[in-house]
Amino acid sequence: MKGLVMSSMLMAGLLTGCAVNQKEEVAPEVQPWSVDRFADIEVLRYEVPAFEELPLAQKELIYYLTEAAQWGRDILWDQNCRFNLPIRNICEAIYMNYQGDKTDAQWKAFEQYMKQIWFANGIHHHYSSAKFNPEFTQEWFEAQINQLPETVKNEELQQNLALPDLMRAIFDPAFMAIKTNQADGVDLIATSANNYYEGVTQKEVENYYARLKNPKDLTPVMYGLNSKMVKEKGKLVEKTYKVGGLYSPAIEKIVFWLEKASAVAENAKQKASIDALIQYYRSGDLKDFDNYSILWVEDLQSRVDFINGFIESYGDPLGLRGAWESIVNFKDSANTARTEIISSNAQWFEDRSPVDARFRKPVVKGVTAKVITAAILAGDSYPSTPIGINLPNSNWIRAQHGSKSVSIDNITAAYDAAAQGNGFGEEFMWSEAEIEQAKQYAHYVDNVHTDLHECLGHASGQLLPGVDPDALKAYGSTLEEARADIFALYYMADPKLVELGVMLNADAYKAGYYQQMMNGLMTQLVRIKPGDNLEEAHMRNRALIAYWTLALAKEDADKDGSEPALCFAKRDGKTYVKINDYDKLRTYFAKILGELQRIKSEGDFEAGRMLVETYGVKVDPELHKEVLERYQSLHIAPYKGFVNPRYELVKDADGKVTDVKIIYGSETYPEQMLRYSKDYSVL
Ligand code: ZN
Repeated sequence: MKGLVMSSMLMAGLLTGCAVNQKEEVAPEVQPWSVDRFADIEVLRYEVPAFEELPLAQKELIYYLTEAAQWGRDILWDQNCRFNLPIRNICEAIYMNYQGDKTDAQWKAFEQYMKQIWFANGIHHHYSSAKFNPEFTQEWFEAQINQLPETVKNEELQQNLALPDLMRAIFDPAFMAIKTNQADGVDLIATSANNYYEGVTQKEVENYYARLKNPKDLTPVMYGLNSKMVKEKGKLVEKTYKVGGLYSPAIEKIVFWLEKASAVAENAKQKASIDALIQYYRSGDLKDFDNYSILWVEDLQSRVDFINGFIESYGDPLGLRGAWESIVNFKDSANTARTEIISSNAQWFEDRSPVDARFRKPVVKGVTAKVITAAILAGDSYPSTPIGINLPNSNWIRAQHGSKSVSIDNITAAYDAAAQGNGFGEEFMWSEAEIEQAKQYAHYVDNVHTDLHECLGHASGQLLPGVDPDALKAYGSTLEEARADIFALYYMADPKLVELGVMLNADAYKAGYYQQMMNGLMTQLVRIKPGDNLEEAHMRNRALIAYWTLALAKEDADKDGSEPALCFAKRDGKTYVKINDYDKLRTYFAKILGELQRIKSEGDFEAGRMLVETYGVKVDPELHKEVLERYQSLHIAPYKGFVNPRYELVKDADGKVTDVKIIYGSETYPEQMLRYSKDYSVL
């Protein structure tokens, strides 16, 4: 499972339900985090803090794992659609050999198409799964192919060009229109352009696996995860991805580098897990994959960690076959230490929580969240990447052996840094003070908020005896997220956090308070379409807290005629969120926490329903319209992804590895893509 839940700061910039006008000319954003901008995409770079300080052995291990990661790229391209690799080869040949006018509209359109297919690992949009529509003509494209120097028109390219349907795959919008079709009532396999199946119907596949699955098997393998399904002599056959099987040339390279990694593993447990992965790549046996997954999930001591394989099955409409991906990472010690401090003080927070004493846990155990630093993103995690990972996906392994849940801090840091230059804060924040405070603290404070939410919030409180844990029914998840969030908000401002060294100073929390209120009251609306209500649990919970707080502030102010602690304010016809009294705000949070905990502890469905329906669902259409218009004027790319840093082995005269260098900013987005195609292609 992938963590796509965005921190509040990111959210607004990352996901949009509203259509940003793609056709409009967008000025390239010039800021250090942004390396490219085209169509609906912005490409960023990320840093790998503390890589230089790692011991040589760990750097070397990371180097080998990053090589193993990069060799899988073409597997994913081919999984996504069988025309992807031939189309990429032809387009790259044109891209590199074009001698014409680079201000020409046809070239511009082609350049955008090239960048889009690089980003999507194929001819379909990475998120919507719809095929790209080239804005250059087939005549222009064919003329470019004819102009290619003879030396470039090698055998492979000639073969590709001879492929029937290749031009249709690029130019006919109705052909291979969608990568993964999820629409009801049609054959999902026949109508999906991905390459997981060939010549088989949905019904046949479903019957095939229904026969294989034994309901009495308590430890079932993940059927279909590592193969393509085809029909041979009238029979369904799984073409397994393995050494000697489908994608063998790429998998052999992956295994080669995994063997090098195994030789420098940090400890026996990690070595065993790497060796088990190699064994699985050799056998293609899904029992071997389970064996590897168990060893992997139980390896908790190693600093360096990675995923490498056929993991997530979102790309298969039947949810069976895994897209190849890899992320290499190492533990972010400083941030993980923070979650350990918070977690080990869980009882202190529980004992002082502003809720009825009967609802507090006499003994509470905090949860420690692991924070990691990504060293490379590859396959299905590149260039678009998750900010959190929770694996393995096998249900029985999760139940019996646990799972690893991590958040990737250097990726969220890059998103946040990029978001600061995009004009969002300047557009929506009330004054210079809030903008400045966000610049200084927002990323850090947002992390602390997440830690408090995950490590303490969900773990706190108890049900009264006899209360049904599912009493809040459909409102349960919104109310639970709200309870964890408000617990985090309440304690974020507590001097105890400064004392523990978790919070930077006594004022830093204000950045978090402002962010949460602005987001809940208005800016999260950029993610939904005009006329829609709030549906998603996290969005509902943020609105619930913010609008409830707003109501409490108004009630108080109406009583004595004072300025409300929180309000909407207008300036130049624009709406802003204004916080006049942060201390008072915290007293409202205490009140809300007390009531949300009561609702949960007593299972008070009616009160919970009322709160969600009153504060968490409805959208003010006027405000929504205004927010969407202001957001669209910023031209923020709805989707973002990353270029990787480069790694280089440093060797002495005897060929002994003496260091691993990390290099940033040495190549543009197209240069990186072209290098990967040149250095890591065997399929
Ligand atoms: Zn939560």
